[in-house]
Amino acid sequence: MKRGLFFTITVFCLIFSIILLPFSFAEGKSLKNYYCPKCGTHIESVNQPLMGTCPSGGGHHWHCLGEVGDRNYQCSKCGLVVKSKNTPYGNVPCKNGGGHNWKRIS
Ligand SMILES: [Zn+2]
Ligand SMILES: [Zn+2]
Repeated sequence: MKRGLFFTITVFCLIFSIILLPFSFAEGKSLKNYYCPKCGTHIESVNQPLMGTCPSGGGHHWHCLGEVGDRNYQCSKCGLVVKSKNTPYGNVPCKNGGGHNWKRIS
């Protein structure tokens, strides 16, 4: 009886890992830049960050700026500096209005 239960649990774990494995790979585990235009907060995260509490009211409104890399880009409008692989996405709203105006600084 106990052996049967153990076997069932093992089989279930195996099936679950087989089902979930492709999903965790497809997600992509690279570090990305996220920016909240409401308060100007920038963080680096692998997954979409939680909304949390935005100092400007409600939850943060996270926008992805692209993958984190070893180049430094600065927005000439708000002064935000991000480490990015390529030029950060330009369609993300800037805290100071319009889109960010990225300049490579190093
Ligand atoms: Zn915010
Ligand atoms: Zn900006």
